[in-house]
Amino acid sequence: MEPKPRIGVYICHCGTNIAATVDVEAVTEFAATLPNVVIARNYTYMCSEPGQALIKDDARNFGLNRIVVASCSPRMHEPTFRAASQEGGVNPYRFEMANIREQCSWVHHDRDEATEKAKALVLAAVAKAARLEPLEEREAPVTPAAVVIGGGVAGLVAALDIADAGFPVYLVEKSDRLGGRVAELNRTFPDLEPVAAWLPDLIGRVQSHPNITVYRNARVANIAGFVGNFEVTVEGPDVPAGPLKAGAIIIATGYNVFDPTLKPEFGYGRYPQVVTTLELEQRLAAGDLTVNGKTPKDVVFIKCVGSRDVQLGRPYCSRVCCMISAKQAQLVRQALPDSRVTVFYMDVRTFGKRGEEFYDEARRAGVRYRRGNVSEIYRRSDRVVVRVEDTLLGRTLEHEADLVVLAVGMEPQEDVAELASLLKLPRSADGFFLEAHPKLRPVDTAVDGVFLAGCCQAPKDIPDTVAQAKAAAASALIPLMRGVVPMEAATAVVDPELCAGCGMCVEICPYGAPALDPLWGVSRVNAVLCKGCGACAVTCPSKAIRLQHFTPDQILAQVEALVFWE
Ligand code: SF4
Ligand code: SF4
Ligand code: SF4
Repeated sequence: MEPKPRIGVYICHCGTNIAATVDVEAVTEFAATLPNVVIARNYTYMCSEPGQALIKDDARNFGLNRIVVASCSPRMHEPTFRAASQEGGVNPYRFEMANIREQCSWVHHDRDEATEKAKALVLAAVAKAARLEPLEEREAPVTPAAVVIGGGVAGLVAALDIADAGFPVYLVEKSDRLGGRVAELNRTFPDLEPVAAWLPDLIGRVQSHPNITVYRNARVANIAGFVGNFEVTVEGPDVPAGPLKAGAIIIATGYNVFDPTLKPEFGYGRYPQVVTTLELEQRLAAGDLTVNGKTPKDVVFIKCVGSRDVQLGRPYCSRVCCMISAKQAQLVRQALPDSRVTVFYMDVRTFGKRGEEFYDEARRAGVRYRRGNVSEIYRRSDRVVVRVEDTLLGRTLEHEADLVVLAVGMEPQEDVAELASLLKLPRSADGFFLEAHPKLRPVDTAVDGVFLAGCCQAPKDIPDTVAQAKAAAASALIPLMRGVVPMEAATAVVDPELCAGCGMCVEICPYGAPALDPLWGVSRVNAVLCKGCGACAVTCPSKAIRLQHFTPDQILAQVEALVFWE
Protein backbone atom coordinates (compact mmCIF):
# COMPACT_ATOMS: atom_id res chain seq x y z
CA MET A 1 0.00 0.00 0.00
CA GLU A 2 1.20 3.48 -0.87
CA PRO A 3 2.52 5.18 2.32
CA LYS A 4 0.72 8.27 3.58
CA PRO A 5 2.17 11.57 2.26
CA ARG A 6 4.79 13.12 4.56
CA ILE A 7 5.63 16.56 3.24
CA GLY A 8 8.50 18.92 4.13
CA VAL A 9 7.95 22.60 3.24
CA TYR A 10 10.83 25.08 2.87
CA ILE A 11 10.30 28.83 2.51
CA CYS A 12 13.22 30.76 1.03
CA HIS A 13 14.11 34.35 1.97
CA CYS A 14 16.34 34.82 -1.11
CA GLY A 15 18.25 37.30 1.04
CA THR A 16 15.81 40.20 1.04
CA ASN A 17 14.41 39.42 -2.43
CA ILE A 18 11.49 37.57 -0.85
CA ALA A 19 11.81 38.34 2.86
CA ALA A 20 11.57 42.13 2.40
CA THR A 21 8.06 41.80 0.92
CA VAL A 22 6.76 38.49 2.25
CA ASP A 23 6.52 37.63 5.95
CA VAL A 24 8.35 34.30 5.63
CA GLU A 25 7.78 33.43 9.31
CA ALA A 26 4.02 33.77 8.87
CA VAL A 27 4.09 31.65 5.69
CA THR A 28 6.13 28.99 7.50
CA GLU A 29 3.69 28.87 10.42
CA PHE A 30 0.82 28.61 7.94
CA ALA A 31 2.52 25.79 6.02
CA ALA A 32 3.01 23.81 9.23
CA THR A 33 -0.78 23.67 9.69
CA LEU A 34 -1.51 22.16 6.25
CA PRO A 35 -2.56 18.52 5.80
CA ASN A 36 0.30 16.01 5.45
CA VAL A 37 2.98 18.60 6.33
CA VAL A 38 5.44 17.07 8.79
CA ILE A 39 8.00 19.89 8.95
CA ALA A 40 8.04 23.51 7.73
CA ARG A 41 11.10 25.74 7.82
CA ASN A 42 12.44 28.92 6.33
CA TYR A 43 16.03 29.70 5.39
CA THR A 44 18.04 32.59 3.94
CA TYR A 45 19.15 30.91 0.72
CA MET A 46 17.52 27.54 0.07
CA CYS A 47 19.66 26.88 -3.02
CA SER A 48 22.89 27.20 -1.01
CA GLU A 49 24.69 24.10 0.25
CA PRO A 50 23.31 24.51 3.83
CA GLY A 51 19.82 25.10 2.38
CA GLN A 52 19.95 21.89 0.37
CA ALA A 53 21.40 20.05 3.38
CA LEU A 54 18.27 21.04 5.36
CA ILE A 55 16.11 19.22 2.81
CA LYS A 56 18.33 16.13 2.69
CA ASP A 57 18.69 15.84 6.49
CA ASP A 58 14.98 16.40 7.16
CA ALA A 59 14.01 13.89 4.47
CA ARG A 60 16.03 11.23 6.25
CA ASN A 61 15.27 12.27 9.85
CA PHE A 62 11.51 12.80 9.40
CA GLY A 63 10.91 10.09 6.80
CA LEU A 64 9.65 12.62 4.23
CA ASN A 65 8.34 11.34 0.91
CA ARG A 66 7.46 14.69 -0.68
CA ILE A 67 9.22 18.08 -0.71
CA VAL A 68 7.85 21.58 -1.38
CA VAL A 69 10.18 24.58 -1.78
CA ALA A 70 8.65 28.06 -2.01
CA SER A 71 11.29 30.24 -3.62
CA CYS A 72 12.06 31.39 -7.19
CA SER A 73 11.01 30.20 -10.65
CA PRO A 74 11.36 26.46 -11.39
CA ARG A 75 13.41 27.55 -14.42
CA MET A 76 16.02 28.67 -11.94
CA HIS A 77 16.34 25.93 -9.37
CA GLU A 78 13.96 23.04 -10.02
CA PRO A 79 16.91 20.80 -11.03
CA THR A 80 18.77 21.86 -7.85
CA PHE A 81 15.94 20.85 -5.56
CA ARG A 82 15.04 17.73 -7.51
CA ALA A 83 18.63 16.59 -6.99
CA ALA A 84 18.52 17.48 -3.27
CA SER A 85 15.25 15.55 -2.88
CA GLN A 86 16.74 12.53 -4.58
CA GLU A 87 19.84 12.66 -2.36
CA GLY A 88 17.49 12.74 0.62
CA GLY A 89 15.79 9.58 -0.65
CA VAL A 90 12.69 11.29 -2.12
CA ASN A 91 11.76 10.65 -5.74
CA PRO A 92 12.70 13.86 -7.61
CA TYR A 93 9.23 14.00 -9.20
CA ARG A 94 7.72 14.15 -5.75
CA PHE A 95 9.22 17.61 -5.43
CA GLU A 96 7.02 20.66 -6.06
CA MET A 97 8.07 24.32 -6.31
CA ALA A 98 5.99 27.38 -5.44
CA ASN A 99 7.24 30.57 -7.06
CA ILE A 100 6.93 33.25 -4.37
CA ARG A 101 9.65 35.48 -5.85
CA GLU A 102 8.93 36.26 -9.55
CA GLN A 103 5.19 35.64 -9.05
CA CYS A 104 4.89 37.30 -5.66
CA SER A 105 7.56 39.37 -3.90
CA TRP A 106 8.93 40.92 -7.10
CA VAL A 107 5.53 42.01 -8.38
CA HIS A 108 3.80 43.17 -5.19
CA HIS A 109 4.51 45.97 -2.75
CA ASP A 110 1.95 45.48 -0.01
CA ARG A 111 3.51 43.13 2.56
CA ASP A 112 0.21 41.81 3.95
CA GLU A 113 -1.22 41.05 0.51
CA ALA A 114 2.04 39.53 -0.72
CA THR A 115 2.17 37.31 2.37
CA GLU A 116 -1.40 36.12 1.76
CA LYS A 117 -0.56 35.34 -1.87
CA ALA A 118 2.57 33.44 -0.81
CA LYS A 119 0.41 31.38 1.56
CA ALA A 120 -1.99 30.61 -1.30
CA LEU A 121 0.86 29.49 -3.56
CA VAL A 122 2.25 27.24 -0.81
CA LEU A 123 -1.22 25.86 -0.08
CA ALA A 124 -1.67 24.87 -3.74
CA ALA A 125 1.82 23.37 -3.96
CA VAL A 126 1.23 21.24 -0.85
CA ALA A 127 -2.12 20.04 -2.21
CA LYS A 128 -0.46 18.96 -5.45
CA ALA A 129 2.55 17.44 -3.68
CA ALA A 130 0.26 15.04 -1.78
CA ARG A 131 -0.85 13.59 -5.14
CA LEU A 132 2.52 13.53 -6.92
CA GLU A 133 3.52 10.17 -8.34
CA PRO A 134 7.11 8.90 -8.54
CA LEU A 135 8.52 8.99 -12.07
CA GLU A 136 11.67 7.38 -13.37
CA GLU A 137 14.18 9.22 -15.55
CA ARG A 138 15.65 7.13 -18.35
CA GLU A 139 18.71 7.58 -20.50
CA ALA A 140 19.24 7.52 -24.27
CA PRO A 141 22.55 6.67 -25.98
CA VAL A 142 24.53 9.43 -27.72
CA THR A 143 26.12 9.44 -31.17
CA PRO A 144 29.71 10.54 -30.41
CA ALA A 145 30.05 13.25 -33.08
CA ALA A 146 29.11 16.91 -33.57
CA VAL A 147 27.92 19.10 -36.42
CA VAL A 148 29.10 22.73 -36.48
CA ILE A 149 27.12 25.01 -38.80
CA GLY A 150 29.22 27.97 -39.91
CA GLY A 151 32.91 28.22 -40.75
CA GLY A 152 33.72 31.63 -39.28
CA VAL A 153 35.93 32.13 -36.25
CA ALA A 154 33.24 30.84 -33.86
CA GLY A 155 32.69 27.66 -35.87
CA LEU A 156 36.42 27.08 -36.36
CA VAL A 157 37.22 27.42 -32.65
CA ALA A 158 34.28 25.25 -31.56
CA ALA A 159 35.13 22.57 -34.13
CA LEU A 160 38.77 22.46 -33.03
CA ASP A 161 37.94 22.11 -29.33
CA ILE A 162 35.53 19.22 -29.96
CA ALA A 163 37.93 17.55 -32.39
CA ASP A 164 40.84 17.95 -29.95
CA ALA A 165 38.74 16.12 -27.36
CA GLY A 166 38.71 13.16 -29.73
CA PHE A 167 35.28 13.40 -31.38
CA PRO A 168 34.51 13.64 -35.10
CA VAL A 169 33.21 17.05 -36.22
CA TYR A 170 31.37 17.89 -39.45
CA LEU A 171 31.85 21.57 -40.25
CA VAL A 172 29.26 22.95 -42.70
CA GLU A 173 30.15 26.22 -44.43
CA LYS A 174 27.80 27.75 -46.99
CA SER A 175 30.48 29.72 -48.86
CA ASP A 176 33.58 28.42 -50.63
CA ARG A 177 36.01 29.57 -47.93
CA LEU A 178 36.54 29.44 -44.16
CA GLY A 179 37.15 32.42 -41.88
CA GLY A 180 33.81 34.21 -42.11
CA ARG A 181 33.60 37.97 -41.68
CA VAL A 182 36.94 38.16 -39.87
CA ALA A 183 38.66 37.12 -43.10
CA GLU A 184 37.46 40.45 -44.53
CA LEU A 185 39.29 42.40 -41.83
CA ASN A 186 42.83 43.74 -41.99
CA ARG A 187 43.71 44.46 -38.37
CA THR A 188 41.93 43.87 -35.06
CA PHE A 189 41.42 46.20 -32.11
CA PRO A 190 42.80 47.16 -29.63
CA ASP A 191 46.22 45.75 -30.51
CA LEU A 192 46.10 46.53 -34.27
CA GLU A 193 47.35 43.01 -34.88
CA PRO A 194 47.05 41.86 -38.52
CA VAL A 195 44.36 39.20 -38.98
CA ALA A 196 46.84 37.42 -41.24
CA ALA A 197 48.99 36.75 -38.15
CA TRP A 198 46.52 34.21 -36.74
CA LEU A 199 43.50 33.44 -38.94
CA PRO A 200 45.29 31.39 -41.65
CA ASP A 201 46.88 29.29 -38.92
CA LEU A 202 43.47 28.67 -37.31
CA ILE A 203 41.97 27.67 -40.66
CA GLY A 204 44.96 25.43 -41.41
CA ARG A 205 44.59 23.59 -38.10
CA VAL A 206 40.93 22.92 -38.85
CA GLN A 207 41.60 21.77 -42.41
CA SER A 208 44.36 19.41 -41.40
CA HIS A 209 42.70 18.02 -38.27
CA PRO A 210 42.06 14.29 -38.64
CA ASN A 211 38.77 14.54 -36.71
CA ILE A 212 37.28 17.39 -38.75
CA THR A 213 35.45 17.03 -42.06
CA VAL A 214 34.82 20.36 -43.78
CA TYR A 215 31.95 20.75 -46.26
CA ARG A 216 32.19 24.00 -48.26
CA ASN A 217 29.42 25.39 -50.49
CA ALA A 218 27.12 23.29 -48.34
CA ARG A 219 23.81 23.92 -46.61
CA VAL A 220 21.82 22.17 -43.95
CA ALA A 221 18.68 20.89 -45.67
CA ASN A 222 17.04 19.03 -42.82
CA ILE A 223 17.52 18.23 -39.15
CA ALA A 224 15.67 15.43 -37.42
CA GLY A 225 16.10 13.65 -34.12
CA PHE A 226 16.96 14.91 -30.67
CA VAL A 227 19.85 15.49 -28.30
CA GLY A 228 22.33 12.67 -28.61
CA ASN A 229 20.74 11.41 -31.81
CA PHE A 230 20.42 14.15 -34.41
CA GLU A 231 20.21 13.34 -38.10
CA VAL A 232 21.46 16.30 -40.11
CA THR A 233 21.04 16.27 -43.86
CA VAL A 234 23.63 18.46 -45.61
CA GLU A 235 23.54 19.32 -49.28
CA GLY A 236 26.71 20.23 -51.15
CA PRO A 237 29.10 19.07 -53.87
CA ASP A 238 31.34 17.01 -51.56
CA VAL A 239 28.69 15.76 -49.15
CA PRO A 240 27.86 12.04 -49.18
CA ALA A 241 24.19 11.16 -49.63
CA GLY A 242 21.98 10.54 -46.61
CA PRO A 243 21.94 12.21 -43.14
CA LEU A 244 24.97 12.56 -41.08
CA LYS A 245 24.50 11.48 -37.48
CA ALA A 246 25.53 13.64 -34.51
CA GLY A 247 25.00 13.89 -30.76
CA ALA A 248 25.23 17.70 -30.62
CA ILE A 249 24.91 20.67 -32.96
CA ILE A 250 26.63 24.04 -32.69
CA ILE A 251 25.17 26.95 -34.62
CA ALA A 252 27.82 29.50 -35.58
CA THR A 253 26.25 31.15 -38.58
CA GLY A 254 27.46 34.67 -37.81
CA TYR A 255 25.82 37.91 -38.85
CA ASN A 256 24.92 40.11 -41.78
CA VAL A 257 26.13 43.67 -42.24
CA PHE A 258 23.51 46.42 -42.26
CA ASP A 259 22.72 47.61 -45.79
CA PRO A 260 23.33 51.40 -45.68
CA THR A 261 21.12 52.03 -48.73
CA LEU A 262 18.27 51.62 -46.23
CA LYS A 263 19.34 55.09 -45.07
CA PRO A 264 19.22 56.84 -48.47
CA GLU A 265 19.86 60.23 -46.85
CA PHE A 266 23.51 59.15 -46.40
CA GLY A 267 24.06 58.77 -50.15
CA TYR A 268 25.74 55.37 -49.97
CA GLY A 269 25.88 53.85 -53.45
CA ARG A 270 25.40 57.29 -55.05
CA TYR A 271 28.50 59.13 -53.82
CA PRO A 272 31.91 57.46 -54.19
CA GLN A 273 33.01 59.44 -51.13
CA VAL A 274 30.70 57.41 -48.88
CA VAL A 275 31.95 53.92 -47.89
CA THR A 276 31.35 51.41 -45.09
CA THR A 277 33.81 50.37 -42.40
CA LEU A 278 34.25 47.00 -44.13
CA GLU A 279 35.13 48.73 -47.41
CA LEU A 280 37.58 51.04 -45.65
CA GLU A 281 39.17 47.97 -44.07
CA GLN A 282 39.97 46.65 -47.54
CA ARG A 283 41.30 50.04 -48.65
CA LEU A 284 43.52 50.24 -45.57
CA ALA A 285 44.82 46.75 -46.36
CA ALA A 286 45.56 47.80 -49.93
CA GLY A 287 47.13 51.08 -48.78
CA ASP A 288 44.85 53.09 -51.07
CA LEU A 289 42.59 55.69 -49.45
CA THR A 290 42.19 57.88 -52.53
CA VAL A 291 38.77 59.02 -53.70
CA ASN A 292 38.43 59.89 -57.38
CA GLY A 293 42.21 59.75 -57.57
CA LYS A 294 42.74 62.33 -54.80
CA THR A 295 44.13 61.84 -51.31
CA PRO A 296 41.43 62.79 -48.78
CA LYS A 297 42.18 65.71 -46.47
CA ASP A 298 39.05 65.51 -44.39
CA VAL A 299 37.69 62.14 -43.26
CA VAL A 300 34.46 61.68 -41.30
CA PHE A 301 33.25 58.58 -39.45
CA ILE A 302 29.55 58.21 -38.64
CA LYS A 303 28.72 55.72 -35.92
CA CYS A 304 25.61 53.66 -35.19
CA VAL A 305 24.55 53.32 -38.85
CA GLY A 306 21.86 50.66 -38.63
CA SER A 307 22.26 50.29 -34.85
CA ARG A 308 20.25 51.85 -32.03
CA ASP A 309 17.75 52.90 -34.65
CA VAL A 310 14.18 52.20 -33.58
CA GLN A 311 12.69 53.50 -36.82
CA LEU A 312 14.69 50.94 -38.80
CA GLY A 313 13.71 48.17 -36.38
CA ARG A 314 17.23 47.82 -35.05
CA PRO A 315 17.12 49.22 -31.52
CA TYR A 316 20.11 47.23 -30.28
CA CYS A 317 23.77 48.25 -30.04
CA SER A 318 26.11 46.39 -32.41
CA ARG A 319 28.85 46.53 -29.76
CA VAL A 320 31.83 46.76 -32.14
CA CYS A 321 31.28 49.90 -34.23
CA CYS A 322 32.77 52.27 -31.61
CA MET A 323 35.98 50.25 -31.46
CA ILE A 324 36.16 49.70 -35.24
CA SER A 325 35.77 53.46 -35.76
CA ALA A 326 38.48 54.20 -33.18
CA LYS A 327 40.75 51.67 -34.87
CA GLN A 328 40.21 52.85 -38.42
CA ALA A 329 40.39 56.54 -37.43
CA GLN A 330 43.83 55.87 -35.91
CA LEU A 331 44.96 53.95 -39.00
CA VAL A 332 43.78 56.78 -41.27
CA ARG A 333 45.73 59.27 -39.14
CA GLN A 334 48.79 57.02 -39.44
CA ALA A 335 48.41 56.68 -43.22
CA LEU A 336 47.50 60.35 -43.79
CA PRO A 337 49.13 62.38 -41.02
CA ASP A 338 47.94 65.66 -42.56
CA SER A 339 44.31 64.61 -42.67
CA ARG A 340 41.59 65.87 -40.36
CA VAL A 341 39.63 62.91 -38.93
CA THR A 342 36.31 63.49 -37.15
CA VAL A 343 34.03 60.92 -35.56
CA PHE A 344 30.36 61.87 -35.15
CA TYR A 345 28.79 59.81 -32.40
CA MET A 346 25.61 59.38 -30.34
CA ASP A 347 27.56 57.82 -27.47
CA VAL A 348 30.98 56.25 -27.17
CA ARG A 349 30.76 52.70 -25.80
CA THR A 350 34.32 51.40 -25.72
CA PHE A 351 33.76 48.79 -23.02
CA GLY A 352 35.85 45.67 -22.76
CA LYS A 353 39.47 45.03 -21.98
CA ARG A 354 41.66 48.00 -23.06
CA GLY A 355 38.63 49.59 -24.78
CA GLU A 356 38.69 52.91 -22.94
CA GLU A 357 42.47 53.18 -23.28
CA PHE A 358 42.14 52.55 -27.01
CA TYR A 359 39.60 55.37 -27.32
CA ASP A 360 42.04 57.67 -25.46
CA GLU A 361 44.81 56.63 -27.87
CA ALA A 362 42.62 57.60 -30.83
CA ARG A 363 42.06 61.06 -29.37
CA ARG A 364 45.76 61.45 -28.57
CA ALA A 365 46.47 60.50 -32.19
CA GLY A 366 44.47 63.56 -33.24
CA VAL A 367 41.07 61.99 -33.97
CA ARG A 368 38.35 64.48 -33.09
CA TYR A 369 35.16 63.20 -31.48
CA ARG A 370 32.03 65.28 -31.85
CA ARG A 371 28.64 64.38 -30.43
CA GLY A 372 26.02 64.76 -33.10
CA ASN A 373 23.24 63.16 -35.11
CA VAL A 374 23.90 63.12 -38.84
CA SER A 375 20.72 63.91 -40.76
CA GLU A 376 21.97 64.06 -44.33
CA ILE A 377 24.95 63.83 -46.67
CA TYR A 378 24.89 65.67 -49.98
CA ARG A 379 27.35 66.44 -52.74
CA ARG A 380 29.16 69.78 -53.16
CA SER A 381 31.45 69.75 -56.25
CA ASP A 382 33.90 66.84 -55.69
CA ARG A 383 33.33 66.70 -51.92
CA VAL A 384 30.36 65.79 -49.74
CA VAL A 385 28.73 67.78 -46.97
CA VAL A 386 27.73 66.09 -43.75
CA ARG A 387 24.83 67.86 -42.09
CA VAL A 388 24.89 67.26 -38.34
CA GLU A 389 22.90 68.36 -35.36
CA ASP A 390 25.49 68.96 -32.64
CA THR A 391 23.61 67.56 -29.65
CA LEU A 392 25.88 69.26 -27.10
CA LEU A 393 25.72 72.76 -28.60
CA GLY A 394 22.14 72.30 -29.81
CA ARG A 395 22.79 73.66 -33.30
CA THR A 396 23.06 72.32 -36.80
CA LEU A 397 26.41 72.41 -38.60
CA GLU A 398 27.72 71.39 -42.00
CA HIS A 399 31.03 69.57 -42.33
CA GLU A 400 32.72 69.20 -45.73
CA ALA A 401 34.55 65.91 -46.21
CA ASP A 402 36.45 64.00 -48.88
CA LEU A 403 35.68 60.60 -47.42
CA VAL A 404 32.80 59.51 -45.17
CA VAL A 405 32.92 56.14 -43.43
CA LEU A 406 29.65 54.59 -42.22
CA ALA A 407 30.14 52.36 -39.18
CA VAL A 408 27.51 49.83 -40.22
CA GLY A 409 25.97 47.57 -37.60
CA MET A 410 25.31 43.85 -37.41
CA GLU A 411 22.02 42.11 -38.08
CA PRO A 412 20.86 38.49 -38.25
CA GLN A 413 21.81 36.41 -41.29
CA GLU A 414 19.18 36.35 -44.02
CA ASP A 415 18.75 32.56 -43.67
CA VAL A 416 18.32 32.64 -39.88
CA ALA A 417 14.56 32.04 -40.14
CA GLU A 418 15.11 28.89 -42.23
CA LEU A 419 17.52 27.38 -39.70
CA ALA A 420 15.30 28.43 -36.80
CA SER A 421 12.39 26.65 -38.41
CA LEU A 422 14.43 23.49 -39.11
CA LEU A 423 15.49 23.26 -35.47
CA LYS A 424 12.36 24.84 -33.95
CA LEU A 425 14.61 27.38 -32.28
CA PRO A 426 13.16 30.59 -30.86
CA ARG A 427 14.63 33.97 -31.79
CA SER A 428 14.71 37.16 -29.74
CA ALA A 429 12.87 40.31 -30.83
CA ASP A 430 15.93 41.53 -32.74
CA GLY A 431 15.94 38.35 -34.87
CA PHE A 432 19.10 36.74 -33.45
CA PHE A 433 18.87 33.22 -31.98
CA LEU A 434 17.61 33.18 -28.40
CA GLU A 435 19.72 31.64 -25.68
CA ALA A 436 18.00 29.42 -23.09
CA HIS A 437 18.74 31.83 -20.22
CA PRO A 438 20.56 35.16 -20.52
CA LYS A 439 22.73 34.61 -17.46
CA LEU A 440 22.88 30.93 -16.57
CA ARG A 441 22.56 29.28 -20.00
CA PRO A 442 23.96 31.79 -22.49
CA VAL A 443 25.13 29.20 -25.05
CA ASP A 444 22.27 26.70 -24.68
CA THR A 445 19.04 26.90 -26.64
CA ALA A 446 15.49 25.76 -26.01
CA VAL A 447 16.43 22.57 -27.89
CA ASP A 448 18.63 20.25 -25.86
CA GLY A 449 21.90 19.45 -27.61
CA VAL A 450 21.85 22.58 -29.79
CA PHE A 451 24.25 25.35 -28.79
CA LEU A 452 25.02 28.88 -29.98
CA ALA A 453 28.40 30.41 -30.71
CA GLY A 454 29.28 33.89 -31.92
CA CYS A 455 27.22 36.58 -33.56
CA CYS A 456 24.28 34.35 -34.50
CA GLN A 457 23.18 34.90 -30.89
CA ALA A 458 23.93 38.66 -30.66
CA PRO A 459 26.54 41.15 -31.90
CA LYS A 460 29.93 40.66 -30.27
CA ASP A 461 33.64 41.20 -30.88
CA ILE A 462 36.25 38.52 -31.61
CA PRO A 463 37.32 37.78 -27.99
CA ASP A 464 33.68 37.38 -26.90
CA THR A 465 33.00 35.24 -29.98
CA VAL A 466 35.91 32.94 -29.18
CA ALA A 467 34.91 32.74 -25.52
CA GLN A 468 31.36 31.77 -26.48
CA ALA A 469 32.60 29.27 -29.06
CA LYS A 470 34.74 27.57 -26.45
CA ALA A 471 31.79 27.54 -24.02
CA ALA A 472 29.52 26.03 -26.69
CA ALA A 473 32.13 23.37 -27.48
CA ALA A 474 32.51 22.52 -23.77
CA SER A 475 28.71 22.26 -23.42
CA ALA A 476 28.43 20.08 -26.54
CA LEU A 477 31.14 17.82 -25.16
CA ILE A 478 29.11 17.02 -22.04
CA PRO A 479 26.66 14.61 -23.76
CA LEU A 480 29.39 13.36 -26.11
CA MET A 481 31.70 12.43 -23.24
CA ARG A 482 28.93 11.02 -21.03
CA GLY A 483 27.71 8.79 -23.83
CA VAL A 484 24.11 9.01 -22.60
CA VAL A 485 21.56 11.78 -22.12
CA PRO A 486 18.87 11.85 -19.42
CA MET A 487 15.28 11.84 -20.65
CA GLU A 488 12.68 14.10 -18.99
CA ALA A 489 10.18 11.95 -17.11
CA ALA A 490 7.36 14.52 -16.90
CA THR A 491 6.21 13.94 -20.47
CA ALA A 492 2.96 13.48 -22.35
CA VAL A 493 1.50 9.99 -22.69
CA VAL A 494 -1.24 9.06 -25.17
CA ASP A 495 -3.98 6.61 -24.30
CA PRO A 496 -4.39 4.69 -27.59
CA GLU A 497 -7.89 3.59 -26.55
CA LEU A 498 -9.07 7.22 -26.51
CA CYS A 499 -7.00 8.62 -29.38
CA ALA A 500 -9.05 9.34 -32.53
CA GLY A 501 -5.96 9.94 -34.67
CA CYS A 502 -6.95 13.52 -35.57
CA GLY A 503 -3.32 14.70 -35.59
CA MET A 504 -3.99 17.95 -33.71
CA CYS A 505 -1.28 17.11 -31.15
CA VAL A 506 1.20 16.59 -34.00
CA GLU A 507 0.34 20.05 -35.34
CA ILE A 508 0.52 21.87 -32.03
CA CYS A 509 3.68 20.38 -30.50
CA PRO A 510 6.56 22.89 -30.83
CA TYR A 511 9.14 20.12 -30.42
CA GLY A 512 7.90 17.58 -32.96
CA ALA A 513 7.40 14.92 -30.26
CA PRO A 514 4.07 13.30 -31.23
CA ALA A 515 3.65 11.39 -34.48
CA LEU A 516 0.81 9.33 -35.87
CA ASP A 517 1.58 5.64 -35.91
CA PRO A 518 1.12 4.66 -39.58
CA LEU A 519 -0.02 1.18 -38.62
CA TRP A 520 -2.51 1.89 -35.83
CA GLY A 521 -3.47 5.47 -36.75
CA VAL A 522 -3.01 6.73 -33.22
CA SER A 523 -0.59 9.29 -31.82
CA ARG A 524 2.58 8.29 -30.01
CA VAL A 525 4.85 10.72 -28.14
CA ASN A 526 8.63 10.43 -28.42
CA ALA A 527 9.60 10.86 -24.77
CA VAL A 528 13.09 12.11 -25.68
CA LEU A 529 11.70 15.04 -27.66
CA CYS A 530 8.82 15.88 -25.33
CA LYS A 531 9.45 18.86 -23.02
CA GLY A 532 6.28 18.40 -21.03
CA CYS A 533 4.90 21.79 -22.08
CA GLY A 534 1.33 20.48 -22.05
CA ALA A 535 0.20 22.11 -25.31
CA CYS A 536 -0.94 18.77 -26.74
CA ALA A 537 -2.84 17.77 -23.62
CA VAL A 538 -5.03 20.88 -23.67
CA THR A 539 -5.50 20.62 -27.45
CA CYS A 540 -6.54 16.98 -27.70
CA PRO A 541 -10.32 16.89 -28.31
CA SER A 542 -10.52 13.28 -27.09
CA LYS A 543 -8.76 13.92 -23.77
CA ALA A 544 -6.45 11.11 -24.78
CA ILE A 545 -3.24 12.80 -23.58
CA ARG A 546 -2.12 12.74 -20.00
CA LEU A 547 0.75 14.99 -18.99
CA GLN A 548 2.68 13.25 -16.25
CA HIS A 549 3.39 15.44 -13.19
CA PHE A 550 0.48 17.71 -14.28
CA THR A 551 -2.41 15.27 -14.18
CA PRO A 552 -6.03 16.46 -13.87
CA ASP A 553 -6.12 14.98 -10.37
CA GLN A 554 -3.10 17.03 -9.30
CA ILE A 555 -4.27 20.29 -10.89
CA LEU A 556 -7.81 19.94 -9.55
CA ALA A 557 -6.40 19.31 -6.07
CA GLN A 558 -4.70 22.71 -6.28
CA VAL A 559 -7.86 24.43 -7.48
CA GLU A 560 -9.94 22.77 -4.79
CA ALA A 561 -7.51 23.77 -2.05
CA LEU A 562 -7.65 27.40 -3.16
CA VAL A 563 -11.42 27.49 -3.66
CA PHE A 564 -12.16 26.07 -0.21
CA TRP A 565 -9.40 28.02 1.60
CA GLU A 566 -10.89 30.15 4.34
FE1 SF4 B 1 16.92 33.00 -4.31
FE2 SF4 B 1 15.87 30.87 -5.54
FE3 SF4 B 1 18.19 30.61 -4.32
FE4 SF4 B 1 15.99 31.00 -2.88
S1 SF4 B 1 16.41 29.23 -4.15
S2 SF4 B 1 17.98 31.99 -2.59
S3 SF4 B 1 14.78 32.29 -4.23
S4 SF4 B 1 17.75 31.93 -6.09
FE1 SF4 C 1 4.94 18.26 -27.43
FE2 SF4 C 1 4.50 19.63 -25.22
FE3 SF4 C 1 2.90 17.60 -25.83
FE4 SF4 C 1 5.40 17.10 -25.07
S1 SF4 C 1 3.78 18.02 -23.82
S2 SF4 C 1 4.34 16.20 -26.83
S3 SF4 C 1 6.46 18.87 -25.92
S4 SF4 C 1 3.11 19.51 -26.98
FE1 SF4 D 1 -5.06 11.44 -30.74
FE2 SF4 D 1 -5.63 13.56 -29.21
FE3 SF4 D 1 -3.44 13.57 -30.75
FE4 SF4 D 1 -5.88 13.73 -31.87
S1 SF4 D 1 -4.94 15.25 -30.50
S2 SF4 D 1 -4.17 12.42 -32.54
S3 SF4 D 1 -7.06 12.42 -30.50
S4 SF4 D 1 -3.88 12.19 -29.02
